[in-house]
Amino acid sequence: MLKIIAVAFLLLAPFKWIYVVDNVKCNGCGNCLSSCALGAITMSGPDACIDPELCDGCGNCVNYCPRNAIYKEWYTGIEEEETADNNETLSFSQNPVVGNGVTLTGATPQSEIKVIDRSGRVVICGSADEQGQLLLDMSDVPGGAYLVISDDRISVLTTI
Ligand code: SF4
Ligand code: SF4
Repeated sequence: MLKIIAVAFLLLAPFKWIYVVDNVKCNGCGNCLSSCALGAITMSGPDACIDPELCDGCGNCVNYCPRNAIYKEWYTGIEEEETADNNETLSFSQNPVVGNGVTLTGATPQSEIKVIDRSGRVVICGSADEQGQLLLDMSDVPGGAYLVISDDRISVLTTI
């Protein structure tokens, strides 16, 4: 299973910037629907919804929203679907920003941790502590999406 996810990450993940709707701010006015030439915006219940597969990140729809409910987000395409059925438990202390460290939690205690990029290169390697945590030093790691692997646990880490 782990290999399947890794292959999907390396070969299939689209990695792109998209725009998404904040459902708390959206009041369903519909102003943004006609703004997308790709037809990526539809109404989903009372709120607008952007199809991440169709969105190309042009940002045009942002100008049509009177409630600033549309914002930019990094999209990997596999983060939720592929890790959900793997009982994924790895998580991170914060949204990683290039140059900062981020604490990995939920790993198997004292397990080997590997962070790999899309080319399969290991960019960070270390061991989790007794609590299953490890501070990942991202200071020399370029922005992008990475796989973080600990035994049978796996997660996608994106840095911006
Ligand atoms: S960012 Fe561009 S492609 Fe994406 S939903 Fe908005 S208008 Fe459509
Ligand atoms: S314009 Fe803004 S508030 Fe109106 S439906 Fe679109 S996202 Fe929601």
